[in-house]
Amino acid sequence: MSPRYPYPTRSSDLRFSGSTVLANSGSDSNGSPTNDSSTNSENLNMWWPSSHFNLRPVLSERVSELIKRNAISTAAAEGGNRGDQNAIIDAMEFTRWLVETASTASSSSASSAIIPAEIDSDESKPLLQNSTPKLPWYTLLYRRFKGFMTYQRPNDSRGRVIPHNSILIVNQLFFWTSIFLSIYYIYYPLDRTNNSDLRFFLMADRWGMVFTMNQPLNFILAAKTSPIKYLTGWSYEEHLIVHRMVATTSHVASIVHFVGMYVVYRIFIAGTDRGLTFIGILLRPDIFFGLISFIAFWIFGITSMDEIRLKAYELFLATHISFASIAMIFLYLHHPAARIYVVFSFLIWAADRIVYRAYNKRWSADGEVEVLDESTIRVTIKNFGKGSNKVMKWEPAGHVFLTVPGWNRFQAHPFTILTPPVGYDLEGNSLDGGNEKDMVLVIRKLKGFTEALYDMGGMVKVTVDGPYGSEHARGSLRGCTKSLFIAGGSGIAVAWPLMCELIRREMDKNKKGKGGKPRKIVLVWIVHHEHHLKWIEEDLEKLEEVKRTLPREFEIEVRKFITRGVNGKRPDLRKEVIRVVEDEDGPRLNGRTGVLVCGPDAMMREVRTVGRDLLYEGKDVEILAEKFGW
Ligand SMILES: Cc1cc2nc3c(=O)[nH]c(=O)nc-3n(C[C@H](O)[C@H](O)[C@H](O)COP(=O)(O)OP(=O)(O)OC[C@H]3O[C@@H](n4cnc5c(N)ncnc54)[C@H](O)[C@@H]3O)c2cc1C
Repeated sequence: MSPRYPYPTRSSDLRFSGSTVLANSGSDSNGSPTNDSSTNSENLNMWWPSSHFNLRPVLSERVSELIKRNAISTAAAEGGNRGDQNAIIDAMEFTRWLVETASTASSSSASSAIIPAEIDSDESKPLLQNSTPKLPWYTLLYRRFKGFMTYQRPNDSRGRVIPHNSILIVNQLFFWTSIFLSIYYIYYPLDRTNNSDLRFFLMADRWGMVFTMNQPLNFILAAKTSPIKYLTGWSYEEHLIVHRMVATTSHVASIVHFVGMYVVYRIFIAGTDRGLTFIGILLRPDIFFGLISFIAFWIFGITSMDEIRLKAYELFLATHISFASIAMIFLYLHHPAARIYVVFSFLIWAADRIVYRAYNKRWSADGEVEVLDESTIRVTIKNFGKGSNKVMKWEPAGHVFLTVPGWNRFQAHPFTILTPPVGYDLEGNSLDGGNEKDMVLVIRKLKGFTEALYDMGGMVKVTVDGPYGSEHARGSLRGCTKSLFIAGGSGIAVAWPLMCELIRREMDKNKKGKGGKPRKIVLVWIVHHEHHLKWIEEDLEKLEEVKRTLPREFEIEVRKFITRGVNGKRPDLRKEVIRVVEDEDGPRLNGRTGVLVCGPDAMMREVRTVGRDLLYEGKDVEILAEKFGW
């Protein structure tokens, strides 16, 4: 837990009207206590978060009365300056408790937790209130826009997860641009031809081109080592969402092209005396190749649908690879204009798989599989690249693909590396030592590979492909004054190394005497059962040690929640986020708050919604959601 902040110690900064300094309240000119309760109560009146009470005038009087009594009686009982300060602390806490209770009772709507800001030009009101300084209109506009882009809609009627708005908009833009391109200079503007049959033929043909031109984009979005991620800053999962949209558009294009060409046959050929049947045309080599490409494309399109991909990932993967190859080969043969796009797609695939993945990123290693509890295993991977002098290095929160060749050499599953790498951990070892660390993965048991691993236990030979990952979350968090990590269960594998990286930076700065800049790091870890907390028990103990060596201004707080069992309770994530963004439990820290969330879809959506609301109010918040799956 973070140290409780002694509010009055900030008092030297707090000048109220009439130059009264809070720390001196209740003291005479020599500094000795006066026990003048009227002075105290006057100052306390000003110190209270009046902006809260201004919103509720009726509540204000009764609450003020209660607080005064509580504060004054405590001050009188304790006597002296220390007593006054304790009284003020009590009054503050009591106030907050009452205000929280009152606001919960008065409104059940989520937005009520955010209290509108007030600007305090003459500093006659307390600094410790939920206020946002007046922002230039363009900053507010930008934050509201960002809030809109961050927002993620609820699942659709079939329970499918809807991506957040920025991805949704890119997807929509792509789809409608494709539609526009398919009719440009055919139906709009109308100056290409006046013949409606010919126009229809041109459009059907154009859809074929749209389909073909999408393919390199499809490949680059699906590539693990795509350069696009550096341009967009999106994670791999987010690229895959766009990849799905491009693929969906391609499916639409292929069907319009196919059906369109059939209609063209009906318009131009059927019923003429050329003696050409539809089957006869389909059997022409170029058309036949196109047909095979079309069928292959649709087969893996169907197995890529959520309903199949999420239930039978291996089937999805096998059909994706095999039928995509068939589709591309026959697309090449279908039409000369398609060839350049197929060649480009192939080059992207080759660069990604053969050169980068196979040559640079495959490691043989030993894996120690430990069963942690009924649903979790820990795999510790050591002795990478035995016999060679290569050292396995990774970046915080990177992921690897794990294969157990002795079980099934064709299955590779992605898992995030829980261990912070050398140079980013709490051990303090330097990067240039060249020492290799064991890599720890915390894995939730599901039905396929993970269940097999659970049953295996002990030592196994593994192949590790990776590491992969995106720099986006790390880069964003480095620029934040406050960082909140929200992890659901094994989502800790993402939060923990990123959190360690930030702490390690402070440790290094501290060593050089450059630390001490006020910052706050909060981890909210939500698990089902208490014994799940043991997954990183030693690491959390190490964190406590490190915490003691860091300056007080660098605040670290770990909040654990257990959701099941007798005392199980879900945290109110809205409150957790607002608490950090609004500095409810400590001094105000100016600057951005980064909120990283990794957990179930519903958790991520909830955090995104709070982020949207805060951004809409003008708060400087960055929401980073990392998902375990694609
Ligand atoms: C980038 C990333 C990082 C991840 N990190 C972790 C982690 O640290 N800890 C953890 O417990 N889980 C993590 N996962 C999820 C983990 O990869 C899957 O739970 C695991 O692959 C399921 O294997 P299974 O055969 O037992 O699953 P199944 O019971 O067969 O299927 C369960 C779910 O897992 C999905 N899945 C199955 N195989 C794969 C695969 N090869 N690639 C992607 N998804 C698959 C299925 O679509 C299905 O939705 C991560 C996933 C991704 C994409």
